[in-house]
Amino acid sequence: MSKNAIVIGAGIVGLATARALVAKGFQVKVFERSSKAVGASIRNFGMVWPIGQPEGTMLNRAMRSREIWKDVAKAANIWHDECGSIHLAYNADEQLVLTELYEIFTTQGRAVQLLSPAEINSKYNGINTNGLLCGLYSDSEMIVNSPKAIPAVASFLAKGLAVQFYWDMAISRIETGKVFCGNTIFEADLIILCSGSDFETLFPASFSNVSITKCKLQMMRFVHQDPNFRINTSVCGGLSLIHYTSFQAANSLAVLKKRYQLDYPEYIANGIHVMVSQNDDGELIVGDTHEYGLTFDPFDRAHLNKYVLDYLATFMNISDWKLSQTWNGIYPKMTDGNTEVFLNPLKDVYVINGVGGAGMTLSFGLAEELLVNI
Ligand SMILES: Cc1cc2nc3c(=O)[nH]c(=O)nc-3n(C[C@H](O)[C@H](O)[C@H](O)COP(=O)(O)OP(=O)(O)OC[C@H]3O[C@@H](n4cnc5c(N)ncnc54)[C@H](O)[C@@H]3O)c2cc1C
Repeated sequence: MSKNAIVIGAGIVGLATARALVAKGFQVKVFERSSKAVGASIRNFGMVWPIGQPEGTMLNRAMRSREIWKDVAKAANIWHDECGSIHLAYNADEQLVLTELYEIFTTQGRAVQLLSPAEINSKYNGINTNGLLCGLYSDSEMIVNSPKAIPAVASFLAKGLAVQFYWDMAISRIETGKVFCGNTIFEADLIILCSGSDFETLFPASFSNVSITKCKLQMMRFVHQDPNFRINTSVCGGLSLIHYTSFQAANSLAVLKKRYQLDYPEYIANGIHVMVSQNDDGELIVGDTHEYGLTFDPFDRAHLNKYVLDYLATFMNISDWKLSQTWNGIYPKMTDGNTEVFLNPLKDVYVINGVGGAGMTLSFGLAEELLVNI
């Protein structure tokens, strides 16, 4: 008889875990306290983003996750766009970093190209070519429309892989073999908690020994006046170069970082870098800011969105864009340099958390890796 597993949390980490458990032969139940996923997994850019991951384990994990995303998306008819990404340089120091990264990434076997302004202009729309020096295009990035894709993955797991979902069921206690939803008990051989930024409620003692905090990000959504407008890729300005670990391989990055600290002190202080992705509805998703702590002011700061917009306007022509939504999202973030935390607080009970700002990029591969010996 096959074994039973319970997963708590229907964000991308919980869904990826449920999928990996089915592949290992478990019958799986997922418990989610809300009536649908409303956490970080539906609040992001939808960027599956291998370019941000350093060579080795993390890049391999990102590429494996991308492969799984594609398989699931095809099986479940989920829109996804293998549109790649471009990082733009308007200054000589940014151009130097991109040129170094092009050499390094090519050696690592990544599919990258250094594009001239004319090439960028001919392939993509809406990019400001005034003063543009070059762009580093990468082929590996993919976009999903998270508010649609996350529920669609859950539906696929339910219909295609017989995963049972229990919505509106907050799990209040876990013991070996049992989870408690109030007074109701559900039993399973294996329990995996994937509770995202809520790491206070269950196993607080285990988490008190983990170097983890939270990060709040402000985001915006725009519609373009022309309903047929497509950028044809995801676009990042120079500030993103100091955000992702993979870019640290460039020798000249330290000099660029120093210049940004002088030129953009408010941006550095608020963790602002600016990227835009476009979904199947043509909407343009723009962010973001990074604020760290355990408790956040619930109110968004208009002046931070203004910083984001001012910077966006340096590399995108946004006169035809109309703001349609603003929101924030919170993810758990490791503070010791680890990329996730995997705990085993009780026999046959595990916790997966701390995936930070790359959960859409890494979770499918991560879940497979963590469950290998379970
Ligand atoms: C604004 C923003 C932009 C981002 N952009 C990207 C991006 O483009 N690409 C990328 O790779 N990553 C991105 N990320 C990161 C990514 O979204 C997160 O890493 C990922 O969503 C975390 O998934 P999760 O399942 O851990 O958390 P969540 O999606 O928050 O899911 C956790 C779930 O657990 C449930 N839960 C918690 N406790 C209980 C309980 N006791 N009982 C039942 N249910 C419970 C919650 O209700 C929630 O639904 C972004 C994040 C944010 C916030």
